[in-house]
Amino acid sequence: MSNAITDTEAYRDTISTVDKDGKRVWVYPKKPKGKLFNYRKLVSYGLLALMFIGPFLKINGLPVLMLNLVERKFIIFGMIFWPQDFFILVLGFLAFVVFIILFTIVYGRVFCGWVCPQTIFLEMVFRRIEYWIEGDNNKQKALNRQEWNFEKIWKKTAKHSIFVAISFIIANTLLAYIIGVEKLQQIVTDNPANHLGGLASMAIFTGIFYWVFASFREQVCTIVCPYGRLQGVMLDKKSIVVAYDYERGEPRGKLHKNQVRTEGDCIDCNQCVQVCPTGIDIRNGTQLECINCTACIDACNAIMDLINKPHGLIRYASEEEIAEKKKFQFTTRMRAYTAILVVLMGVFVTLLVTRKNIDATILRTPGMMYQKKENGNISNLYNISLINKTNQAYPVTLKLLVPQGEIKMVRSGLMLPAQGITEGVFFAEIPKGELHKMNTEIKIGVFSGEQLITTKTTKFLGPAN
Ligand code: SF4
Ligand code: SF4
Repeated sequence: MSNAITDTEAYRDTISTVDKDGKRVWVYPKKPKGKLFNYRKLVSYGLLALMFIGPFLKINGLPVLMLNLVERKFIIFGMIFWPQDFFILVLGFLAFVVFIILFTIVYGRVFCGWVCPQTIFLEMVFRRIEYWIEGDNNKQKALNRQEWNFEKIWKKTAKHSIFVAISFIIANTLLAYIIGVEKLQQIVTDNPANHLGGLASMAIFTGIFYWVFASFREQVCTIVCPYGRLQGVMLDKKSIVVAYDYERGEPRGKLHKNQVRTEGDCIDCNQCVQVCPTGIDIRNGTQLECINCTACIDACNAIMDLINKPHGLIRYASEEEIAEKKKFQFTTRMRAYTAILVVLMGVFVTLLVTRKNIDATILRTPGMMYQKKENGNISNLYNISLINKTNQAYPVTLKLLVPQGEIKMVRSGLMLPAQGITEGVFFAEIPKGELHKMNTEIKIGVFSGEQLITTKTTKFLGPAN
């Protein structure tokens, strides 16, 4: 590394948004513009549209995504997951974590800059409204410093009213992902007294979102987000991050007219620092605060255009690429993570594909022995519990498949409601001649009409021959 970078690591002792007395330093980033920002806008608006229409999208009458933590019912891509399927979700989550780690090792914090909801909402929604109402960074600073006059009052009132309204919409969307859009509509249209809990959740979520985006802002990324804080262990010299090419840029120096330039390409204009939403100087090297938003790349490229130098003084690059001019390589660590990811994904997909839509549990009633019937048959009493993971109700009948025999329900037949559970009690009656030992394995079929929907094996007690 060049001297300019390694001479001091003092910037790592503090974070840019807190002064030495521990007070918050408000970041006023300059409004970003440039090619990458335009691409990010497209990606962000696409993701926002997806997020807001998500609760209304259905597959087979079920939401694409619903995470009902209260009732412990999860619907992903129209498939219902009950607590019994929890291991599949855990495996899916593990695969997702490995994917994130692998992705981070190779591509750094691309997720933070391009996909993370915090960045998208803050940079593409709330901050853009702020620029629109209060103007660019210098105007915002001036407005905050000035006395409370008509201009300041209307601008602040308009901005914060819009912030609250958007926070309310986000909170409602989040609730729709938790309780489903139908229940949310009910809460909104019904008598408020009947939904005090739901309304309170709405108000709390709205308040939290408003606070995060109006006040807490980049502190989420620099102080709270665990993913951000794990960067130190995930990134290495081969990871592609937003990086300053110090070999090309240093020694930095101001540009002076009619002077033969002996310094590097960095003209120390500070534009990369001014646009940074987390208030850092990327020329110091990779830092925990950098969310890879690319604003500094755009800002520096614009300067390079002005001074007739090639783009890319700040660009997506690895430390190795800059220091040793090496091209990207797939390392052993990346290969190992990829192998783990492939195995996890394979198991996850297999479990998903072989998952049954109806889950049955059949248990012999505890404490009951077998009974001898007058016709010579032997009978055992069972309890059955059925879980329906589909959006379709089923009238259910049971048949003994192996060995020959009969199922007699204690009450009438079973009705399995859509997305519901039903329980029943039945006798299995088997001719004594079919039983050759005390403990016989029997196979019961669960039918809806003529359609076999699942089978279950259980034990049947009989007399020893
Ligand atoms: S250093 Fe650059 S990429 Fe990182 S947060 Fe700041 S502006 Fe964004
Ligand atoms: S924008 Fe580019 S030229 Fe200007 S200070 Fe930053 S790195 Fe140097």
